[in-house]
Amino acid sequence: MTTAETPARTAPPRNLPGGVRHLVVGAGFAGLCAAIKLAEDGEQDFLVIEKGDDVGGTWRDNTYPGAACDVPSQLYSFSFAPNPDWTRSFSPQSEIQAYLQKVATRSGVLDRFRFDTEVEDAAWDEDRQVWRVTTSAGELTADVLVSAAGALSDPRLPDIAGIDSFAGPNTGTWNRSSRRGTPPTWSLWWCVAMIAHSSSPSRASRSSTGAASPGSTTAALRPSPMSQM
Ligand SMILES: Cc1cc2nc3c(=O)[nH]c(=O)nc-3n(C[C@H](O)[C@H](O)[C@H](O)COP(=O)(O)OP(=O)(O)OC[C@H]3O[C@@H](n4cnc5c(N)ncnc54)[C@H](O)[C@@H]3O)c2cc1C
Repeated sequence: MTTAETPARTAPPRNLPGGVRHLVVGAGFAGLCAAIKLAEDGEQDFLVIEKGDDVGGTWRDNTYPGAACDVPSQLYSFSFAPNPDWTRSFSPQSEIQAYLQKVATRSGVLDRFRFDTEVEDAAWDEDRQVWRVTTSAGELTADVLVSAAGALSDPRLPDIAGIDSFAGPNTGTWNRSSRRGTPPTWSLWWCVAMIAHSSSPSRASRSSTGAASPGSTTAALRPSPMSQM
């Protein structure tokens, strides 16, 4: 499962049905797993709505140099889809994304996915006992709403003076941050600032060492809120 990335999507967004039994929001690890397990249980009436253009979630979006998992890949994968082809214990983003794309394609559930469609609102209708869901492609109802929207899909930028005018990339939007549509790479001329509290800056900083100009990588780290609990 280490081949080059091929988007798992098979068709452009189509019209939404008026209602479904199960509606899953998000096509990362969690949403993909929910879809596969629903299908395994014989459930036919479900839909996965994804605002991005492919499966993968975190691993579709975080493409900065050095992005990799920090849980060993043999554990950081589906128990029902083991992958003997991981090239490293802590596999890079591209391998994890290719793995998710391959699992999605092989599972045969992609015809239930609607990409490029964002869930904008969901409200429980007490009278009809359904979720009323508003999306960027229209409205539908669902008996069961499964949120697999992830906790990290929208990067939270620090509140720093001047950040609005910063033209460089950040780790959360690396592949979307190039004005020419080509993902940026570390440049010899960059000064790199690492501002975060988790494993991403340490991975990115290892990757940038030797690529950015010597001595130009500065880290400002603070403990994760979770580690203070
Ligand atoms: C750089 C990085 C490295 C990580 N490394 C590890 C690791 O080593 N080990 C580990 O356990 N965890 C790691 N994580 C955490 C990782 O996020 C989770 O492990 C896992 O990938 C989350 O999967 P998910 O499906 O819950 O959410 P996500 O992968 O975030 O997927 C959520 C999906 O929902 C979509 N979505 C969100 N809102 C909407 C909406 N309103 N409408 C439609 N679609 C929507 C998003 O576009 C996204 O595709 C890492 C996270 C990051 C950012």
